[in-house]
Amino acid sequence: MRVNVTLECTECKERNYLTSKNKRNNTERLEMKKYCPRERKVTLHRETK
Ligand SMILES: [Zn+2]
Repeated sequence: MRVNVTLECTECKERNYLTSKNKRNNTERLEMKKYCPRERKVTLHRETK
């Protein structure tokens, strides 16, 4: 039931992280605070389609 998702920085649109989520527990788009190496700061990252 786990799917791979890509996390994209909401500020610069860089795709920084690959992760997986459980589709059953987590039907919404994933959002998490992550470090963006391009901007060298923590930004909000969101699951891409
Ligand atoms: Zn960024």
